[in-house]
Amino acid sequence: MYGLEMAKGLMVTLSNLLRKPFTTAYPEQRLTQHPRFRGEEFTWYEERCTGCASCAKYCPLGIIKIVTSPSETAPLEGDKYRLETFDIELQRCMFCGLCVEACPYDALFMGSGFEEGQYKRTDLVITIDRLRQAEKNPSTWFRPQLESMDYRPGASRPLGWREVGREKWRWHQHEKAGRRLNGRDAGGDA
Ligand code: SF4
Ligand code: SF4
Repeated sequence: MYGLEMAKGLMVTLSNLLRKPFTTAYPEQRLTQHPRFRGEEFTWYEERCTGCASCAKYCPLGIIKIVTSPSETAPLEGDKYRLETFDIELQRCMFCGLCVEACPYDALFMGSGFEEGQYKRTDLVITIDRLRQAEKNPSTWFRPQLESMDYRPGASRPLGWREVGREKWRWHQHEKAGRRLNGRDAGGDA
């Protein structure tokens, strides 16, 4: 009886011996992330950001801090604010993506990274400088325009601010200034 149970155990070992492993030898091997993966580093396009702070207001944890000052170019014509602070406290983020959903100008995207190990909590705050300097590999989560171009964060090239919006940039410029375009102009490019 004892020998039979041992043989059964060995059969389990043998049956798994030739199977492909379920695990990967990270960090030498890396899994390919799904394009909609809600990664940690966020992708922010300052050129598209008006400083409206909708992302900060909709964050359920209140971990986005935005400080603005009046635009230096055309403050009375609905131009955007000047961004002085845009900090995200990553250590408290639950990656719900509501901030990305709330952004009306396609300026904020989830990122595609997952390796944000730090020794100090303060180092887990993503600052405006880091957001500015980061390579732009936005997640396609909640961004159907990126999915329609079959964008693959990490595998495709980084995207510029003109490429990531739902509408042409010229439409945004006029919309922000409170002016409606006619049908012919609305499709034009800046
Ligand atoms: S992903 Fe969610 S928790 Fe994280 S900053 Fe955005 S809204 Fe806040
Ligand atoms: S919601 Fe978008 S446009 Fe408004 S401050 Fe946030 S990132 Fe900028």
